[in-house]
Amino acid sequence: MIERLKQFLIQNYFGKQFSLEYRVYMIFFFESYFLSIISGITNTLLNKGLFGQALQWSYIIFCTIIIFVIPRIRLIILKPHLLFIAFIYIPLMYFQTAGYDGTALLFAQLALFLLGIVFSGKTRMIIIVLNILTWLVCIIISFQFPQTVTFHRSSYDLLIDLIVALILTFTGLSILTTFISNIFADKNDTLAELSIRDALTGAYNRRFMTSFLQCELDTSRQTGNAIYVLMLDIDHFKQVNDTYGHGFGDHVLLACVQGIKSVLRKCDVVVRYGGEEFVIILLTQIPTNASQIAERIRHAISSLRFHYDVSITVSIGVTASRFEDTIEDILDRADQCLYKAKLNGRNQVVMK
Ligand code: GH3
Ligand code: MG
Ligand code: MG
Repeated sequence: MIERLKQFLIQNYFGKQFSLEYRVYMIFFFESYFLSIISGITNTLLNKGLFGQALQWSYIIFCTIIIFVIPRIRLIILKPHLLFIAFIYIPLMYFQTAGYDGTALLFAQLALFLLGIVFSGKTRMIIIVLNILTWLVCIIISFQFPQTVTFHRSSYDLLIDLIVALILTFTGLSILTTFISNIFADKNDTLAELSIRDALTGAYNRRFMTSFLQCELDTSRQTGNAIYVLMLDIDHFKQVNDTYGHGFGDHVLLACVQGIKSVLRKCDVVVRYGGEEFVIILLTQIPTNASQIAERIRHAISSLRFHYDVSITVSIGVTASRFEDTIEDILDRADQCLYKAKLNGRNQVVMK
């Protein structure tokens, strides 16, 4: 039951498929909805101003329609709705619910926070300044003309009002901030991931390879266990491109990476080193394993069948790290092996 409700909420209101603005708006929407219901009931029970009650109950009906009945208009009315809340609804409630003695100012802060999220650039600046000015005007009016304010009838009313408002605004603010910081954490993770990957194939890029190899070389010096580096180059790839087009070539590159990965373990690393050249770093500790894996990769790729019945082969150079190796040394050696494999007629593995 709870799981289903969660699914429903994610599908319709808070899922990752929605924009940040939309999701934040929905949180605010639900909160202001429940808030209006609670304070609508409280105000009706405390019998605070008929006008305020009418306003509040109209707002509750409006929210019900948007939350449950017509989802399509949510994003369209997002900005007008927030502006209405910040500039009309809460200021009116301010006069209906005890002015600066009441709780409207708390909610005003929540609304201001949302205006800052939903609007951007110069518009945001202007709207926030205008909203603060609105509040200054409200406070001055209520100070100069106290008869414009419907005050609490007793200190007991004030207490209830304050407790409800504090709980609601604090909960609202903490949910919103948690939610937003989670979204940013997600975005940062994605950015970090993108910065170390090749866009076409999803393999790691050279930037990642350099730091990874350095780290692994350092470890291997300490442990005495070599790491194995494979340099792989697709044979006659230019021909594939020239005959079937660059788009087809891109497709082949992507399939190649998938083919390579299908043979490896999760901890092994595939790097797009250049156009159709890949470096594979194996964390195996046994030399025969390294050449076997290279053979398996070669086999996996040559068994791929593409459109037009095209198939491709690869040449692979394999080398193990030595104690005194720098990154350049080990890559050079793998490249020499690859070169030999090409000279020997391609479609083969050469290990040094
Ligand atoms: P060899 O067997 O000697 O390696 O021959 P080759 O044709 O594979 O080698 P060459 O270096 O002459 O050609 C590499 C080709 O790879 C040329 C270039 O058009 C292609 N290439 C490089 N990057 C990409 C890419 O991102 N997409 C596509 N489709 N082709 C690429
Ligand atoms: Mg090639
Ligand atoms: Mg090449």
